[in-house]
Parts: sequence; structure tokens; C-alpha cells
Amino acid sequence: HQPKEFLLAVEALTVSFDGFKAVNDLSFYVDENEIRVIIGPNGAGKTTVLDLICGKTKATSGSIQFRGKELTRMRENEIVKTGVGRKFQNPSIYDDLTVFENLEISYPRGRSVFGALTFTRDAAVRDRVHEVAEMIFLKDRLNMNADLLSHGQKQWLEIGMLLIQDPDLLMLDEPVAGMSVSERAKTAELLNRIIKNRSVLVIEHDMKFVEDIAHKVTVLHQGQILSEGTMEKVKNDPKVVEVYLGH
Ligand code: ADP
Repeated sequence: HQPKEFLLAVEALTVSFDGFKAVNDLSFYVDENEIRVIIGPNGAGKTTVLDLICGKTKATSGSIQFRGKELTRMRENEIVKTGVGRKFQNPSIYDDLTVFENLEISYPRGRSVFGALTFTRDAAVRDRVHEVAEMIFLKDRLNMNADLLSHGQKQWLEIGMLLIQDPDLLMLDEPVAGMSVSERAKTAELLNRIIKNRSVLVIEHDMKFVEDIAHKVTVLHQGQILSEGTMEKVKNDPKVVEVYLGH
């Protein structure tokens, strides 16, 4: 019978930096419409895993299948086109543009082939900007300059700039770092809205937030999986308790 089809299948993934295996024979699988959270102590390899998936770092061996396509030999810009979106920790929004303009230039047709910023003011783009602005709680801020947004709103705007490209997998690195309690709650709501059409892979340290959002947690330690499953399962796993308590 047919093996189950995963949105993302990472198999035996390894990357060595001068002989040091930051990611070591790692395999994990992400379903459609799943919120997967990667946790683990500093240096566990979490960021490197996202770097490998988005093509920023090249694997030494192993495979990354996304919708059946092998990503490990693709360039970063080709990987983006397969539907993988990545948000880094520091916002890369355009401070001197409005919220509307930031979303508009992120619309796939808003960029010319030379990468210059062009403004495509057609109705379809406008509608999509409004749709995304509503999703990210910024529909009342469309004409505001991005530099006037709160820290949390800037993070949402950057998520919106990825959402407007309609990725099938959205990867986020500590999305609620520095956010207020109410912004955290709204971010959880946002993630639950957007997985109707995609999956989300998140690196997160805030365990309360992980409890709120994770369908499944992958615990990394020294480039390998220490434990995997529901938050309830992994937080009671003695191996996880040991690593986090530092015994
Ligand atoms: P985490 O995100 O879990 O804190 P990282 O993925 O950033 O961990 O790093 C895992 C390990 O790999 C660390 O020991 C780090 O120093 C090392 N590492 C990451 N990137 C590189 C690199 N480009 N060159 C050398 N070592 C690296």
C-alpha cells in the first residue's frame, strides 16, 4: 500500500561544519495543516534545520522532500517558489513604507524580474492586501507607516508579507519574542487561522506559547531528536526533563 504523503519529509539529514555535525541523521515529518514546534537547548541545531529547509545552508547528506520535490539541491530562490516561506527573527519590513505598501510589494507580481520594487495597483492585489491585513490584525493600519507599528504589529506585518505569497509551509523563528501577553494570544489565533491552508514550522522557547499552539513538538538535542509527540508527551519524557534541567 501507498506510504502516507507528508507535506514535508526530512530524512537522515546531516550537516557538518568542519567535522562538527550540527544536524546529525535527523528525520521528521510534517503533515498538512499542522503546527509543528521545534524546541531544544541553545546550540541544539534548531536554526540550522530551518536554514537547511530554506536552502540557506546546504546539507552534507540526507534529503528534504517538500510536496514530493527534493529541496536539497535547489537554490534558495527556487525553494521559495515551491511554497516555502521563512521569517527570520529580525523584521525585514520597509520602515518608510505604509502597511499597505509593504504587503503590496511582497505580492509575487509586485516584484519585477530584476528585483526592483514596482507598484501593481490592480484590484486583485488590493483585495489580497486587504484580506491579509485583516488576517494579521492590521486592517485599520493600512495607511500607517510601518515604523510607527508596535513590535508585535511589525512581526505580524512580516508574517503578512510572507502570507501574501501564499506559502504551503511557513517557517517562523521565535515569533512571539518580545511580544506582550495580548499580542502572544493574537499570534496563536493568527497561526490557527492560517493553517487552514498550510502548515507552520516554528522554533520557540516560550513553553506557554508552545503549549497553546503545537500540534506536535520535536525536541532537538545535539542535532538529533531527543523526543517527539504532543507537548503533554514530551514534557513528561524523562530524557527531555534531564536535558532542560541540565543534569
Ligand atoms: P540552535 O538554533 O538550536 O540554538 P544552531 O542551529 O544555531 O542551534 O547551532 C547548532 C550548532 O551548530 C551550534 O553549535 C553552532 O555553533 C553550530 N553552527 C551553526 N551554524 C554554523 C556555521 N555556519 N558554521 C559553524 N558552526 C555552525
